[in-house]
Amino acid sequence: MRPKNEALIVIDVQNDFCPGGALAVPEGDQIVPLINDMLGDFAVKVFTQDWHPAGHSSFASSHAAKQPYDMIQMPYGAQVLWPDHCVQGTDGAAFHPDLRSDPANLIIRKGFRLQVDSYSAFFENDQTTPTGLEGYLRTRGVDTVTLVGLATDFCVNYSAQDAARLGFKVAVDLSACRAIDLNGSLDQARQAMEKAGCILR
Ligand SMILES: [Zn+2]
Repeated sequence: MRPKNEALIVIDVQNDFCPGGALAVPEGDQIVPLINDMLGDFAVKVFTQDWHPAGHSSFASSHAAKQPYDMIQMPYGAQVLWPDHCVQGTDGAAFHPDLRSDPANLIIRKGFRLQVDSYSAFFENDQTTPTGLEGYLRTRGVDTVTLVGLATDFCVNYSAQDAARLGFKVAVDLSACRAIDLNGSLDQARQAMEKAGCILR
């Protein structure tokens, strides 16, 4: 059992990010048994869920003449456009059925505002609107986090960098993560996380 100042943060292990889903991450389902095994080691367990309203601004289908994976400029910066995914209340937004979600202490839902995406578990993509997770962790005495989940190069990456920026000690267990790897995004993410001070295992 890890000490009480350590939390496990499980990022977006949802049906739409697993094989067969709308935005499938290759081998995304293979991390589920590993995460299930890790849950017993941590006193503090936080899960996140990508949780979009229909017609979300991160969906290519919400923009005329745009295709999934095109880039656009949003008021808060560059944004990749995605296939419709993780729409609130749909089966695609549910956790993978084999993931043991009952032990979660807190489920953070993100990306629920129509006009702004949220990759990070800590801040929306404007990089200023907090999700509340920082306060939850601090008030529970957590100063060290281990991140696992989907996808390494997007939501895990942004969450890890934000956690480090906020002063948490951060480890990313890459054996329990899988990547989308869009135009070299996995290499860029690994470098950015290491530069931010995250330990990659
Ligand atoms: Zn999303």
